[in-house]
Amino acid sequence: MFKKILIANRGEIACRVAATARRMAIRTVAVYSDADANANHVRACDESVYLGGSAPKDSYLRWEKILEAAKATGAEAVHPGYGFLSENEEFAQACADAGLVFIGPPPSAIKAMGLKAESKQLMEKAGVPLVPGYHGHDQDPALLQREADRIGYPALIKASAGGGGKGMRVVEKSADFAAALASCQREAINSFGDDAVLIEKYVQRPRHIEIQVFGDTHGDCVYLFERDCSVQRRHQKVLEEAPAPGMTEAMRAEMGAAAVAAAKAVNYVGAGTVEFIVEQRDGGAMNFFFMEMNTRLQVEHPVTEAITGLDLVEWQLRVASGEPLPLKQGELKIHGHAIEARICAENPDNNFLPATGTLQVYRKPQATAFERSAVRIDDGVREGGEISPFYDSMIAKLIVHGATRDEALARLDAALAQTHIVGVQTNVQFLRGVLATESFAKANLDTALIERERAVLFDREPLGLPLAAAASIARTLLDERATNTQGPFSQRDGWRSLGTTARIFAFEFRGETQTATLRYLHDGALTLDVGGVSGPLVMGRLPGGQIELAFNGGRHRIDVYERQGAAHVFADQGATRIAAIDRLAHAGDSQAEGGRLTAPMPGKVVSFAVKAGDKVAKGQPLAVMEAMKMEHTIAAPADGTVDELMFAPGEQVTEGAELLRMVATAA
Ligand code: ADP
Ligand code: ADP
Ligand code: MG
Repeated sequence: MFKKILIANRGEIACRVAATARRMAIRTVAVYSDADANANHVRACDESVYLGGSAPKDSYLRWEKILEAAKATGAEAVHPGYGFLSENEEFAQACADAGLVFIGPPPSAIKAMGLKAESKQLMEKAGVPLVPGYHGHDQDPALLQREADRIGYPALIKASAGGGGKGMRVVEKSADFAAALASCQREAINSFGDDAVLIEKYVQRPRHIEIQVFGDTHGDCVYLFERDCSVQRRHQKVLEEAPAPGMTEAMRAEMGAAAVAAAKAVNYVGAGTVEFIVEQRDGGAMNFFFMEMNTRLQVEHPVTEAITGLDLVEWQLRVASGEPLPLKQGELKIHGHAIEARICAENPDNNFLPATGTLQVYRKPQATAFERSAVRIDDGVREGGEISPFYDSMIAKLIVHGATRDEALARLDAALAQTHIVGVQTNVQFLRGVLATESFAKANLDTALIERERAVLFDREPLGLPLAAAASIARTLLDERATNTQGPFSQRDGWRSLGTTARIFAFEFRGETQTATLRYLHDGALTLDVGGVSGPLVMGRLPGGQIELAFNGGRHRIDVYERQGAAHVFADQGATRIAAIDRLAHAGDSQAEGGRLTAPMPGKVVSFAVKAGDKVAKGQPLAVMEAMKMEHTIAAPADGTVDELMFAPGEQVTEGAELLRMVATAA
């Protein structure tokens, strides 16, 4: 076994690898960028080496520097994590050339699976079922059009070099094909430097089911069952679970065999994932087709660890050091059910626009044990840390395990309720909403689940004004009691009449001004009148700092954090933000101030959909920006005329930079 490894990554995956290495008494070397000088992954490792600037191309993608760091520290092997250099065959080869073990498959396997079109040609030969489509070399637009017409509509155009849910276009009818092809090729060349595409039948109501495979250097290969990753937004996974609901033993064996055949066709070594798109037929039958192979550890590997009780990073290290696979196929078993939720810095209500900021509050649920635990948290951040625009928007992963799917689901919801983040927008409440949908609860899974449940998932307010206001007031009163700053008989904003004293609180809640009246009765009891609800308010502080509150017929345990002039209220049924009006911070709307259209976050201008002089209608797309691996469309805030474009496509912009000027049409 290795004595020392270098982890060529950051964030949660670097911390994850370091945890297993530590358990196995292997020393670790971290690498880091400017933005990560104090990051958790640096602290999690025994040594660290500085790489350069914050942008990935100046640090985590500089492989000569990483190899030098490995040499200088005496590391014997390099773990690439996922993203960055993990699927770069040149880097894998450079490691070998430098006498280092790349903890992953051989460069030839990465290359063979790197392009979706080429890998499909290989899979066809290996007898792995493919989605009906075209994956040839000839990229003549007329030929591609004929192929799409032959396959039928809706069809999907995919960038062969694509990944991360990018470079895909669904085409509804033949007449739309040419335009979609041009736009897909443009995105492909911009994002991946290669405009080759393939065409697939667009499977309706599909499920994404993938198989975890593992190969060793002795020619053995096993599969560690499946994960269902159907719940996606923008073709990116948000919830993943294992086993896949409704999976039969026969289909599992068939898919497992196909995945192993795929891996063997490229002499695969180490951890890999074969992704299948699954067509659901009436009567419960399912057809599966090869989609792509990811030649690395997957973000969602912990659900497989939870149901098998194994540590896949340990397996990676054993296999990379030449040991045979620790278990044979027949020794692998599924225990219970596991679900993972990806907690991302983003705003679900604004088309999942990535968010940045400081983690002013970051409280996690109580974790239990490590592998196959009931609740596991994988993260690489801590309270006070920054979510910067340079890297992925994933903050943490919550992984739960239960005897049954229902148990795991209930546990995940409870764990999400205990995840308190303030300072950065997140999808935590959105995820709770998804778990609560009928589709998810009944395991009626497919990639359109979020779209289908739109009505109940967006712009939700789980708490409501009365409870939010009661929580904020309770927090204020308890703080006053503790510090004796404002009592019921203080004259400042109270008044007395007929033995009661009242205080009026003004709030901003969901963009509207609201008032609440608190009355102190002569026996010391309180009543609150807010949002059409009126009744006694009883509160107390629990030992851990939580507030216990009884109001409006309910008894609640809540956490209230006062940050940025607002109370951030977390209760069992959800979380919300309510601001006492006198302390309201006037945060400007960064997207549209008058005729200026500014960048909502730092990033790259991908394209403009308009030019100076164009007349535009409210809501019309004007520009596309890319930040944190997501594209975001900037739309016109009103009808008007474009005056001037301030940048050229491809340019980097800072947050708040003016992207273009427009003159609104007078109403
Ligand atoms: P997966 O199926 O594993 O999600 P993708 O093809 O979507 O595979 O890409 C890998 C994922 O890992 C993406 O979500 C990407 O943004 C994310 N990612 C890459 N590197 C890191 C990292 N260091 N920390 C957190 N997430 C990362
Ligand atoms: P990436 O490399 O970006 O992960 P994939 O080929 O794995 O690209 O596809 C990503 C997602 O797009 C899938 O998980 C699925 O939701 C959807 N998708 C891909 N191919 C098809 C298809 N032929 N029909 C319907 N949906 C598809
Ligand atoms: Mg994929």
